[in-house]
Formats: sequence, C-alpha cells, structure tokens
Amino acid sequence: MRDRQTDEFDKRVDELRTKIKGLDQLKVRDDVFDEYTLLGLYKLLSKGWITSMGGPISTGKEANVYLADRNGTPVAVKIYLTRTANFKKMQDYITADRRFINIGKNRRDVIFAWTRKEFSNLRRAEEAKILVPHPLIFDRNVLVMEFLGEETSAFPQLRLAVFDDAQRVYDEILEDIRILWRQAKLVHGDLSEYNILYGRGHPYLIDMGQAVTRDHPHAPGFLKRDLEQLNRFFNERCTTREISEILEKLCGTSPQ
Ligand code: ADP
Ligand code: MN
Repeated sequence: MRDRQTDEFDKRVDELRTKIKGLDQLKVRDDVFDEYTLLGLYKLLSKGWITSMGGPISTGKEANVYLADRNGTPVAVKIYLTRTANFKKMQDYITADRRFINIGKNRRDVIFAWTRKEFSNLRRAEEAKILVPHPLIFDRNVLVMEFLGEETSAFPQLRLAVFDDAQRVYDEILEDIRILWRQAKLVHGDLSEYNILYGRGHPYLIDMGQAVTRDHPHAPGFLKRDLEQLNRFFNERCTTREISEILEKLCGTSPQ
C-alpha cells in the first residue's frame, strides 16, 4: 500500500526530474535515474558543474556516460548504476584499498565510494602527467569530467581508432603504465583497447574506477594483466616487448 511518505517521496523525485535541464529528453531506462542519482545530478546542476544533460555516449552494466553541457563547454558525466553495478566485486576491491577503510557496508555506500575512487585515481594519474580526462567533481554516484572529443563527438576507443604509427602509440601507453606504477603508484587494472581513447594524436587512459594502489593485493596481478592486454592488441601491429622484461626494467618489479 502506498502511504503518504511514499507519495511525498515520488513527488520530490518528480520535481527533481523536471528541474534537471535536458533530463526529460533522455530516452533511457527509468531506473537509471533513481532518487540518489537525481539528487546528485541536481546538486551538481545547482552548483553550476552541469548546465544541462545531453544524450548518452555509452550505456553499460556498471555505468552510463552522458554528454552534458557546462556553460557552453561539453563535459562527460559518468553515472554508476546503483542497481546493476557489480557491487560484490567493488566491495572486494575497495575493502583492500587503504584509502577507503571506513566506507559503509551497503550497496549504495560502496558505489559512492567507488565513484570517489575513480575521481581520486584520475586526479592522481593526472598529477603524474598522464593523459586522462580531467576530473572536475563528483557527487554520490555521479562523476563529472572533461569530455574527450572534438566538438560533441567523443574520441574513438583505441580498437576503433585509425592511427598510422602503432609503435609510437604502444610506446606511449607503456610509458603511461610505467609512470602510473613508478610515480602515481597506481595500476589501472582494466586496461584494454576499450578503455583507451585515441585523440589529438595520443592515447588517453579512461575508466579508472578499479585502479588500485601498488600496495593492494591485486596490484601485481593487475599490472601483469594490463601488460598482457596491451601486448595482445599490439602484437600484430608493432614490435612489443616481453612482459617479464617490462616488469623488471620499466616497473622494477619481479615477474610473478
Ligand atoms: P564503463 O565502466 O561503462 O566501461 P567507461 O569509463 O569505460 O565506463 O566509459 C564508457 C565509454 O564512454 C568509453 O569507452 C568511452 O567511449 C566513453 N567515455 C567515457 N569517458 C569519456 C570522456 N571523458 N570523454 C569522452 N568519452 C568518454
Ligand atoms: Mn570501460
């Protein structure tokens, strides 16, 4: 039975919906914008981080990414899906991360912490001068970052990109992995031709929610897997280096 409280709540959610410019245009599953997401979006809107929402750039199981406008400049808004994200996996990764020892146990808290984690990973990578989308702000499960693209069309993922100098691109990504490990003390953890965008002649690393610090129990395994993924993609495109040699010479770690 619906009670007064539920009605009040629905009214509030409806109000928020109409207040978020551009949201009504979005033909996305209703449950994407649950109450928390709406609140997060609304707060970001009120504070001027987002002027209006645009269409989806990508829809996935863990997150959707939208194009949005901020005072005439395109921004990317990544929304972690509170209902369908793999919360168990997130919890497993995040509880071993020293930066996030005191997060709550419920689904929502873990996903909010995950969003904060992606924000801080992007910032840490950027501080080490790695090309990533510049992180602007986050609220709850909503992350606002620089839109990587030309006008309003996003840079292609590496798998779809056309580049003539594979060796240079490979070397640049390898250098990113090295700097991430040595300086930022991070491992991406899900590196692939899907999570690298190619634009302005350079690779950009994206999707850093799962990235972990070097002291995380998953770090060595993640590093090796990232390198294997990279070599798998580039093996037929250029000369790749032995994983054991990269681990030893570039990362200064012994092969697992
Ligand atoms: P997911 O967890 O769904 O894989 P990603 O962060 O990888 O989320 O984003 C999904 C896709 O959205 C990317 O492959 C890319 O095409 C696009 N995308 C993500 N972030 C940006 C950005 N800052 N600028 C432009 N496109 C982006
Ligand atoms: Mn991705």
